[in-house]
Amino acid sequence: MEKYNPTPRIGVLALQGDFEAHIKMLQGLGADAQAVRLPKHLDEIDGIILPGGESTTIGKLMIAYDLHQVLQRKIREGVPIWGTCAGLILLAKETDNALAGQPLLASMDIRVRRNAFGSQRESFETDLSVPALGEAPFHAFFIRGPQVDQVGPEVEVLATLDDGTIVAVREGPLLGTAFHPEVSGDTRFHQYFLRIVQSVKR
Ligand code: GLN
Repeated sequence: MEKYNPTPRIGVLALQGDFEAHIKMLQGLGADAQAVRLPKHLDEIDGIILPGGESTTIGKLMIAYDLHQVLQRKIREGVPIWGTCAGLILLAKETDNALAGQPLLASMDIRVRRNAFGSQRESFETDLSVPALGEAPFHAFFIRGPQVDQVGPEVEVLATLDDGTIVAVREGPLLGTAFHPEVSGDTRFHQYFLRIVQSVKR
């Protein structure tokens, strides 16, 4: 297994949702993973994960805990941030169906649609081809996930479903997945994020 040296410090936003699985997976990879609940928890952090959950709830709590502005500042400073599912919605510059007043970090040049898979396919699993992770398919769990329906010129599409729906994107140090790699047992997406963190670590 790849080990990272010096150990990257990854803050996982722990206000609501699926943060523990991310922390466990990062620790298994040798990263120093910490739960982030207050602005001071972001002081010495090399990368940040915004987990899945409910983007409306996480957004409101981000404001209540004074994390919203700090996170936006970290993004401006170039700190790598990975949003999974609800986290991807929070990163997006635009959503076509955000709830009125839903707070977003509005940083990645993409437009997403919340809960876009409809009731039949709200939650499903599928094997994705993700060339950036190598040849073996990545088994992806979608849990009421969003779809990315527009990407800006600087955005790299990392994975699509067979019908072309965009489900993984990268824009420089920002990474977004519409599914939940932290529940798959496959650590390659976490390793990919740690490599992004290593590449910009100051
Ligand atoms: N449906 C949720 C939202 O809109 C996202 C679901 C998830 O993160 N698994 O925020």
